[in-house]
Amino acid sequence: MSGGRVSVVGLGPGSEGLLAPAAAAAFRAADDLIGYFPYVAMAERLAGPLKATVHASDNRVEMDRARHAFELAASGRRVVVVSSGDPGIFAMATAVIEALHLEGEQGGEGAGADWSAVELEIIPGISAAQAAAALVGAPLGHDFCVLSLSDNLKPWDVIERRLELAASADLVLALYNPISKARPWQLGRAFEILRAHLPATTPVVLGRDVGRPAQSVTVTTLGEVTPEQVDMRTVVIVGSSQTRAFERSDGRTWVYTPRWY
Ligand code: SAH
Repeated sequence: MSGGRVSVVGLGPGSEGLLAPAAAAAFRAADDLIGYFPYVAMAERLAGPLKATVHASDNRVEMDRARHAFELAASGRRVVVVSSGDPGIFAMATAVIEALHLEGEQGGEGAGADWSAVELEIIPGISAAQAAAALVGAPLGHDFCVLSLSDNLKPWDVIERRLELAASADLVLALYNPISKARPWQLGRAFEILRAHLPATTPVVLGRDVGRPAQSVTVTTLGEVTPEQVDMRTVVIVGSSQTRAFERSDGRTWVYTPRWY
């Protein structure tokens, strides 16, 4: 049977206003909704009520989810795989495309389903770093670099090397997956590496639960920031040597990186 579709859809940071209309339309049209359970719940909150059959799962089964999406779509269903932020940034779009590439058009082992007629689309979302940057001004206004600090999927020495190179190239850094219970020391080490290259006055932005009801944003400096201020629901933006912060008369601090040197 043909006519099935897999849409990998970004939720944006978590508020209805920052969800793309195309994303909301895809959620409402879905026959099946696949994803990590908090994101499935968020899709229902932002775009619901939804008619889709929900397949919520744990965070660590990305390839299984991706294959499941194609299996369902091969029988003609409209399947949405949900991610937070942008689905192409440390999220599900890669797993979905990798599953397609590795398994070929024939589909999974023993599945017998033909994936060749399944339409595939990726609907982008506003990523955490963009949403956090907007809360404080324009820290990503000039060249910047996005790194995940998670060493679950790549070795820590690769991450250290990238931090070194990014800081010595004077790029603004947006750090995703900065810390977790299973990765308690890595962020402190990352700050140490950055302090060797950048002044202690370098602005640092901590955006937590951006776009969600519990949203908070802190502007501090590289000299003062501590890992205790950060959790896995935070995106960390570290300025370059050019990034500036200033306070307006209302007491709010604004941060920007000029576009000229
Ligand atoms: N695809 C997502 C990123 C997934 S990786 C995106 O584009 O935003 C998960 C990490 O993203 C978290 O550890 C955190 O660093 C960051 N993150 C995702 N949503 C966030 C939010 N609403 N506020 C702050 N950080 C967020």
